[in-house]
Amino acid sequence: MFNRISNGVSRELTWIIASFWVFLVVAWVSKLWVEVLVAYVFFYIGRQLWSAYKFEKWMHGGSRSAFPPSSGYWGEVSYLVSKKQHSLEKRADLQNYKSEQFRAASMALPIAIVSLTEHNQIEWFNESAQSLLVLKQSDVGHKIESLVRHPDFVRYLKSSAYEQPIFMTEFMGMSRTYSCQLLSYHKTHRLLLLEDVHELYNLGKIRKDFVANASHELRTPLTVINGYLEMMTDMPDKVPATWNNPLKQMFQQSQRMQSIIEDLLTLSKIESDTLVNRFKEVKVDRLLSSIEIDTKHLYGDQYNLSFEIQSGLVVSGVEEPLKSVFINLISNAIRYTEIGGDITVRWYSTEQSAVFEVEDTGIGIASEHLSRLTERFYRVDTARSRQTGGTGLGLAIVKHVLDKHHAHLRVMSQVGKGSTFSCRFEEG
Ligand code: ADP
Repeated sequence: MFNRISNGVSRELTWIIASFWVFLVVAWVSKLWVEVLVAYVFFYIGRQLWSAYKFEKWMHGGSRSAFPPSSGYWGEVSYLVSKKQHSLEKRADLQNYKSEQFRAASMALPIAIVSLTEHNQIEWFNESAQSLLVLKQSDVGHKIESLVRHPDFVRYLKSSAYEQPIFMTEFMGMSRTYSCQLLSYHKTHRLLLLEDVHELYNLGKIRKDFVANASHELRTPLTVINGYLEMMTDMPDKVPATWNNPLKQMFQQSQRMQSIIEDLLTLSKIESDTLVNRFKEVKVDRLLSSIEIDTKHLYGDQYNLSFEIQSGLVVSGVEEPLKSVFINLISNAIRYTEIGGDITVRWYSTEQSAVFEVEDTGIGIASEHLSRLTERFYRVDTARSRQTGGTGLGLAIVKHVLDKHHAHLRVMSQVGKGSTFSCRFEEG
């Protein structure tokens, strides 16, 4: 840049020196030194003003040429400006090409896509969104919740938990299932993705129904077998001594099977129950006080148990499944912490949520397992889980109950140091 301007100044100086020679010759021939000097100065100023005028006109787009034909300093400046403009135009063309490509690709996608501003106003949408959500170009600038009023969608939009999609049935007057997810992009903008997942969703439902039915069918015969095995282990004198150990093991295993079946049934019950029509104000402080009494009674002499409960803090939900969440997390903390360890249970409010938290100083969980803990039968340490009576379904139940309460589970853990499981209940 500096080189270019010095180029411009040197061009100007060359012009001044050349024209000065002409001035000298004319003044010498005419002997009118003063008049010719005045005329020269006027000519120079006039030339500068004319160049500035042409430059300004060109900048306003009044001229068609690439840069105004000018010599001296102004010629150099207009050359630089036009070069810069040219490179900006090239960059803008490339940008336009890329965004056109993106637009064309998103238009062709079978997934409905709507781009939203930070105030949920529609910016643009693709063809699938146009037909699924019945959007028109005149809807651009309108808030999405004024056009898509499905209660689940409005609730999802208001929450700030967009990591997981939601599934909506009976959407926009159609008896099909749609998955809906919001993705943040470009700092404050969001992309709304809607996809017809009816067939997949139905397959999932068939699988869930099968598991629920199979568990239900197995429950009664297993109860009978369990009952007889218990009876036989209670009568060691009536059973040959060699049978005592096998019977004990059979009884333990059938009890384990029974726990798994009970947990599978609980899970399918939670999955098929929307719960929302049974929502009431749950006095969590009272619920936790009774859990505190039982836990301290059973484990108070083995662990340092402390309960820090904020009184009067309530949530909207169903008491029984919420209780199973609290018990599951506390019992996990006990099962995965060595005797003598610390276990702290907290219930408190933050600015936007109510938080239930269980912190332990137990064995901890390596980070690669954290995202999979709520999968059914996912265990980090299978042997320990079985040995402590775990079914591998506890955290799956926790996750499903929390989902139904629009709450989220967060796990922080360090191997050998302990874990903290937090359930965050959003307000509203
Ligand atoms: P399980 O019945 O096996 O405990 P869960 O679903 O409750 O099943 O937990 C899944 C796995 O997560 C457990 O097998 C265990 O490896 C791990 N886990 C859960 N809670 C804790 C905890 N507090 N500390 C360490 N590991 C844990």
